[in-house]
Amino acid sequence: MLLSGKTAIISGAASKRGIGLATARRFAAEGAKVAILDIDAAAAEAAAALGDGHIGLGCNVADKASCNDAVAQVIRQFGVIDILINNAGITQPVKLLEISPADWDRIQDVNLKGVLFLSQAVIPHMRARKQGSIACMSSVSAQRGGGIFGGPHYSAAKAGVLGLAKAMAREFGIDGIRVNCVTPGLIGTDITAGKLTDEMKAKILEGIPLNRLGTAEDVAGIYTFLASDLSAYVTGAVIDVNGGMLI
Ligand code: NAD
Repeated sequence: MLLSGKTAIISGAASKRGIGLATARRFAAEGAKVAILDIDAAAAEAAAALGDGHIGLGCNVADKASCNDAVAQVIRQFGVIDILINNAGITQPVKLLEISPADWDRIQDVNLKGVLFLSQAVIPHMRARKQGSIACMSSVSAQRGGGIFGGPHYSAAKAGVLGLAKAMAREFGIDGIRVNCVTPGLIGTDITAGKLTDEMKAKILEGIPLNRLGTAEDVAGIYTFLASDLSAYVTGAVIDVNGGMLI
């Protein structure tokens, strides 16, 4: 098992079809103890369904105090944190001229500030043990300047995640902490569910050499690689999980 004896925090892992929950399941199957942190009250139930020893806590990643409280609770229960997956995110399909100041703030707060606040809460615990792996969720929207469902503020936030993750990789490599990013293409989750007509789907698939949408498990596999010792010499990397969309 790739994560035997490790402890992991995964943010945004309560949603039934989501990438976070698929990752929590995979981590548990690989031997990790998992803490699901999510704004959705379903976090506790989602963690219980993983089996004994896992925990689910309410946490708003956009709120620094909420991140600090949740991480303190994880430390009380697990003692240590080996892995942090900054996965929580929200999107909003709008055009640039329609973005209100409140829209901008909401999208930056969850997708970008959330990565900062949760990492700030976890890193001191990793640094004390001179080890840790952090993986952050960006998106093909950051690379292409737009996605199917995200607005320009979402592209900006996810591009910010790339810069923030690389800065963290640079600053904390000396402390044995690795920080990497995943950039998924179009993954079939609640963010995309029911929003694609057959015509839209056919058009999208024309641009994907592997000729299918991604699955939450496709991304969970890459998170598992980044969390595990298989990637012991990988930091500051960005791994595309997009079926070849950018070739
Ligand atoms: P999802 O909606 O199923 O999951 C997002 C999770 O984040 C939910 O459980 C939600 O409750 C949680 N969340 C939202 N706001 C939060 C907050 N303030 N604090 C804590 N948790 C919060 O969507 P998903 O597709 O699984 O998305 C997971 C991540 O992947 C997101 O960051 C998303 O932007 C990113 N992403 C998704 C795709 C895609 O095609 N689905 C592509 C690229 C990137």
